[in-house]
Amino acid sequence: MLGKIEHIGIAVKDLTASNELYKKLLGTAAYKQEEVTSENVITSFFKAGENKIELLAATDPDSSIAKFIDKRGEGIHHIAFAVEDIKIELARLEKEGFTILNKEPKRGADNKWIAFLHPKGTNGVLVELCQEIKE
Ligand code: ZN
Repeated sequence: MLGKIEHIGIAVKDLTASNELYKKLLGTAAYKQEEVTSENVITSFFKAGENKIELLAATDPDSSIAKFIDKRGEGIHHIAFAVEDIKIELARLEKEGFTILNKEPKRGADNKWIAFLHPKGTNGVLVELCQEIKE
């Protein structure tokens, strides 16, 4: 079973400008900025009460974020759910017929194992599962 919404990911063109914008909106600055080189993205994280907002900007035109913005413009990119055991959940969801984009979870931003489900199977919503890395 999926847990709480861990964060909402928003694709942006200009991370510096969007950091300022979301600081004004949420009333608090980003608490973390992190580049994920394997994904060609740079991210920043904000707290909004119990929830988090992740801004994602491309660092390369081949990044999936750049492609998303070309196609659909800036906006909500994914919804991330916290899970206790990402491998168990991926196996369950695969059995349920969802298309798993990352059968092997990968290291994402914010100290998480992450994996995505194909949005074609989830009413157009890119769903991320994330599990805190405990080492
Ligand atoms: Zn995310």
